[in-house]
Amino acid sequence: MNPPPLRNGRADLHLHTFHSDGTFSPEEVVRRAAALNLAAISVTDHDSTAGLPAAFKAAGDKLEILTGVELTVVFKARELHLLGYGFDPADETFRAFLGRMRQYRQDRIRAMIDRLKTKGIEVTFEEVQAAAGQGIIGRPHLAQVLVERGLVRGLDEAFERYLGDRAPCFVKGATLTVPNGVKLIRDAGGAAVLAHPFRLIQESWLPELADCGVQGIEVFHTDHSAAVAKRYERLARELDLLVTGGSDCHGFRKSSGPTLGTVTVAYDRVERLKAVIHKRGQTPPVENS
Ligand code: AMP
Ligand code: ZN
Ligand code: FE
Ligand code: FE
Repeated sequence: MNPPPLRNGRADLHLHTFHSDGTFSPEEVVRRAAALNLAAISVTDHDSTAGLPAAFKAAGDKLEILTGVELTVVFKARELHLLGYGFDPADETFRAFLGRMRQYRQDRIRAMIDRLKTKGIEVTFEEVQAAAGQGIIGRPHLAQVLVERGLVRGLDEAFERYLGDRAPCFVKGATLTVPNGVKLIRDAGGAAVLAHPFRLIQESWLPELADCGVQGIEVFHTDHSAAVAKRYERLARELDLLVTGGSDCHGFRKSSGPTLGTVTVAYDRVERLKAVIHKRGQTPPVENS
């Protein structure tokens, strides 16, 4: 690979497209990142790598891209998000897993629709599928249908009253354990990074996660205050973990609107990340993979 164009020397390593629950196409994500003069990005859709070929194609050699994914994993009966970077999306085990996940997510949404029925709310799977389009289906699409029906005022209320992790119509979305998620990513040549820990876990769990093979922490994130980021940066240093960061932009899905480029890390973080990524993970993905 050619030396990367450094541009503004910043990288946003957490971005969603309409291949999961973002609203931008991969091309739009790349266009916006290039317009902001970012040096590097990663497209990290939930349990899907479908946006990667188009993102790589759109980026050409304007902008460096790392392959990415955000896997839902289970840890201590909670759902955590595990970011994978630099893996080979053509890896057979990895692809087979994502295929099963697509089916599992559909079954889960159907189960949540059944639970909504017990609350007197009638939604069809087809409506939710239409909201997801070609993308991998998730709770935000179900929430969108509830909003469109006028049953809740907004996505936040949909999660609070019905779909959130502790709400009555929640059905768990993952069976993948952290060690197995780490193995999937690392065996495919990538690096495994814990996403937005503040939202999801207790600090005291970090050493255990590192023992499971997690190689980094997403220190910088839209939901992390400067003080929180500072704290996680220190913990990363103590545990000898990589430091990453990104905006977790979902386009216009979230009430904040597009956050692309508002949370970034310096390019030397990307270099350190790449240093632990296996060589074969660095080939761009091919179309229709
Ligand atoms: P899923 O992968 O189907 O479990 O859905 C995960 C998505 O739902 C993520 O993008 C989250 O940002 C979003 N989400 C989870 N909890 C909430 C919440 N309480 N309010 C708004 N969005 C949420
Ligand atoms: Zn999301
Ligand atoms: Fe996440
Ligand atoms: Fe995300």
